Amino acid sequence: MENTQVFLPDVLSLDGQAYAVVDLRAACGPQFERLPVVLRLLLENVIRNMQGDERDLAVRAILAWLDSGSSEQEIAFQPGRVLMHDTTSTPALVDVAAMRDALAEAGVDPTVLNPGLQVDVSVDHSLAVEAYARAGSASENLQHEIRRNAERYRFLRWASSVLKGVRINPPGTGIMHTINLEQLATVVNTEQRAGQAWLVPDMMIGTDSHTPMVNGIGVLGWGVGGLEAQTVMFGMPTMLRIPDVIGVKLMGRLSPGVLATDLALTVTQRLRQVGVTGEFVEFYGPGVSTLSAGDRAVVANMAPEYGATTGYFPVDGATLEYLRMTGRTQQAVERVECYMRYTGLWFKPDAQPRYTQSIEIDLAQIGMHVAGPRRPQDLLDFSQTEAALDQLGFEPKGTSEGELPRHPVALAAITSCTNTSDPALLIAAGLLARKARALGLQVPHWVKTSMAPGSPAAASYLQRAGLLEDLEAVGFGIVGFGCTTCIGNSGPLTAPVVQAQQAGQSLAVAILSGNRNFPGRVHPDLELSFIMSPPLVIAFGLAGDAQRNLAVEPVQIAVDGQPVYLNDLWPTHEEIAAHLALGLQPQDFRREFELASANPLWQALEAPQSARFPWDEKSTILRRPPFAALDAGSQLGHFTAYPLLVVGDDVTTDHISPASAIPPDSLVADFLVERGDDRNDLNVFASRRGNWEVMMRAAFHSKTLVNWLRPGMPVAHTLHIPSGEVQPIWDVAARYREAGQPVVLVAGERYGMGSSRDWAAKGQRLLGIRVVLAVSFERIHRSNLIGMGILPLRLPAGVSPQTLQIQLGDQIEVLADASSLSPRCKVQVKLRRASGEVEPIEASAAVETQLEVELLRAGGVIPSILQQTIRAQGGGTQA
Ligand code: SF4
Repeated sequence: MENTQVFLPDVLSLDGQAYAVVDLRAACGPQFERLPVVLRLLLENVIRNMQGDERDLAVRAILAWLDSGSSEQEIAFQPGRVLMHDTTSTPALVDVAAMRDALAEAGVDPTVLNPGLQVDVSVDHSLAVEAYARAGSASENLQHEIRRNAERYRFLRWASSVLKGVRINPPGTGIMHTINLEQLATVVNTEQRAGQAWLVPDMMIGTDSHTPMVNGIGVLGWGVGGLEAQTVMFGMPTMLRIPDVIGVKLMGRLSPGVLATDLALTVTQRLRQVGVTGEFVEFYGPGVSTLSAGDRAVVANMAPEYGATTGYFPVDGATLEYLRMTGRTQQAVERVECYMRYTGLWFKPDAQPRYTQSIEIDLAQIGMHVAGPRRPQDLLDFSQTEAALDQLGFEPKGTSEGELPRHPVALAAITSCTNTSDPALLIAAGLLARKARALGLQVPHWVKTSMAPGSPAAASYLQRAGLLEDLEAVGFGIVGFGCTTCIGNSGPLTAPVVQAQQAGQSLAVAILSGNRNFPGRVHPDLELSFIMSPPLVIAFGLAGDAQRNLAVEPVQIAVDGQPVYLNDLWPTHEEIAAHLALGLQPQDFRREFELASANPLWQALEAPQSARFPWDEKSTILRRPPFAALDAGSQLGHFTAYPLLVVGDDVTTDHISPASAIPPDSLVADFLVERGDDRNDLNVFASRRGNWEVMMRAAFHSKTLVNWLRPGMPVAHTLHIPSGEVQPIWDVAARYREAGQPVVLVAGERYGMGSSRDWAAKGQRLLGIRVVLAVSFERIHRSNLIGMGILPLRLPAGVSPQTLQIQLGDQIEVLADASSLSPRCKVQVKLRRASGEVEPIEASAAVETQLEVELLRAGGVIPSILQQTIRAQGGGTQA
């Protein structure tokens, strides 16, 4: 490897043009075939982007990975583009607007601050299901969305017109990951470097945990926190430890009637059993070739649910077929095939690369499944919902007036990029709806139905296949093209469900084709949800009873008195294939996307054109955040703190910073109403992420979060330890801040699981939390904490909030000096009991790279970018 000649680019001729490509075989030598494809891609990225000794070291480290299947070495990864959605992009772009202000105030031209690479923003997360099951629902919901979010959307239009490289996909264009699959992903790019045309693999990051969906078509990409994305946007690489790679060998073929959702849920359960936490997953073996790219994307989407950073499927003929199906040009498809075959990145069904660990799944053994009622990894046969709900032991108080079952279906939602991007799944749903309609079946009155596809092209292919009317007839008409129920924007429940729940007569359940079902995720009043395929969502919706055993009991009794079973409704593989052929036309994808992009309501929003954003002091949507400053300051050091909260295992970013509707009777609502907002139209928390004052008050606003300092406190309250008073968390935090008293947070396992929500970290920073001590951290949240300058510390083995038994008056001393911090170093912590006893705890820094150390020293990502920008302009660091 000392001979850097091996890094000279190879030349690939295509369409009469010579392109430079990284010569991976020459760089690897005889080891090439043993290297997992994901590591070949990282190797390509390193060789192309790094220089000199650093590059040699990184290449050697990747090849040395083959010895043990693991490595402690870091490499710098430079993605080619960034994907964001409206709720992660708004705070990120608000930060950029505030950074421009900070630069101007430091005497630097604010227009020098622009992203250095393409940033695509999809406005998809704010669509709510208000109108449903009636004609015109989609346009009604879209109008509501734009009216409610006009100020925030004007800001996004300002950002796209003033910041170079920022492109916005307006409401109605679909869900970000579907758009990525159908429109943005090139799989192989061309780029100019030093006057030479190159072919390079399309690699990206996204500020959303389901970014790995695009791995289904061979594009390596994963979810990062908004703050990590900001580092990449402003020219820094993202540092990563060379990942462990779990190989999932797929054998056989899915049985008739079994769908991609069933496979994804099975993979989720198997990999959670293995204990995957942040590894890369790569699928291999002959079973891969039996799956369409649409099937693969469903599986790749659920990477965060199976604990992985990515779930990668290499490129093969099925990928090319998908690219053609979605309207890519013949030239673009040929470029992908030619490059992938030439460089050795093309999938080989008989390849046996070296993996850190590998498991095998026989596709033929997979049945029809659901997952729930509280976690996506809790896999059940579709007939087992009855038993799973029985186990909860809910005893109804009497019978409801409308005779709702014990566990009524409150929501039946065909939702989420996961299961609405693959046309086969929506066609299957349409076919089930057709049979149900022919038998006169109707959804019971208490069930709220919806269908929100990831792509506007779905309306075209369902219509052409003759299935849209059938879906509408059974209540599953299109309510819009966005995240809706999947992100908790499911709108109000039906009155019978609300009444039955309030009277304790029913414990309602959501049925959805999403990917997550944590309590409160899809609706704040629903603790139970089952995830399943779109046709099964309709079947359960028709049943109206989440406990119906559809393997033996009828879905419904038809108008002629005959029982109708699931088997009578379920589409065959041949029917699905025939209707796909009937419905799909490649030109639909581009045309519908462009039509939706021209959305006149969006175009009518007037946006300021000034280089600096003109903040409105009275706004309850957009406020300049205090942490976007040069002098934000490092949180490291030696200090003694009170715990602001002590929480248990599986605290999600939804608990820490909710996205769902702002309850009109909450203190956050009072705050907004005092500032002129309408209590009955407060929108969702996610829509307020441009306003730090609201989001600080929203931190830990969760009915299901238990604060162990004193269980049973009102929502978003905690104990002010010195006084023993229970107050809203931000009031307690303010009292500590005024007293100069540092605070920390103590948590159990998997702290920060769930969505990649940088506000979960920003909220903690605004509350003054300097350190989070947890048994373990979910990957993106850990990175976001560091991005906000908060030190994540891992408790030693055997120590947890349970074993610590923190009592009133106990304090936590932390010795975390900036000068001694290094990746994964030991950090001394002492539990100072109120009794005077001192218990040492040997914690370790959950800090993986030197770049993260530097960010913590600088006080987080934002001060770091500002200091770097000022240096680049020839100024001092000023911080
Ligand atoms: S997983 Fe759900 S919330 Fe996330 S992008 Fe997909 S549809 Fe939206």
